[in-house]
Amino acid sequence: MKVDKKEVIKMRQTNQCATLQEIGNRFGVSRERIRQILSSNNIQTKNYKWLLRYYCLECGTELVGHGRANRKFCSVSCCNSYKRITVMCDNCGALFKRRASELLWYPNIPAHQPKHSFCSRKCLGSYTGKHYGFGAHPRTCKKG
Ligand SMILES: [Zn+2]
Ligand SMILES: [Zn+2]
Repeated sequence: MKVDKKEVIKMRQTNQCATLQEIGNRFGVSRERIRQILSSNNIQTKNYKWLLRYYCLECGTELVGHGRANRKFCSVSCCNSYKRITVMCDNCGALFKRRASELLWYPNIPAHQPKHSFCSRKCLGSYTGKHYGFGAHPRTCKKG
């Protein structure tokens, strides 16, 4: 699945304390994928937890006065926004935000790492039709 590389880089630069996993969660991809994006752009992949400074995972605001408690966000709205990941529709290329649990995936099996994401059912149907046509994979088409 595609991610907005610029956004990944921006998040690393504004939030030096975020782990690769935390960045991955933001974009709905694995830690390894984030590492690949960062290292291919010559950007530091390690986080700076040792700085003992904490930044909001969503907007990058420094969290002052919260100590080392598990504070990750400056506000509830940032927390909600973090959970709404930005993904690109594999069919029409539009960027959209949605909760990971509400995304339309193909294959639509939660246990599998999602390969493709779609902005609408129409795009999901159109893409699946084009790439996994009825003739090619009759079994996977039954459910959709
Ligand atoms: Zn924030
Ligand atoms: Zn679309």
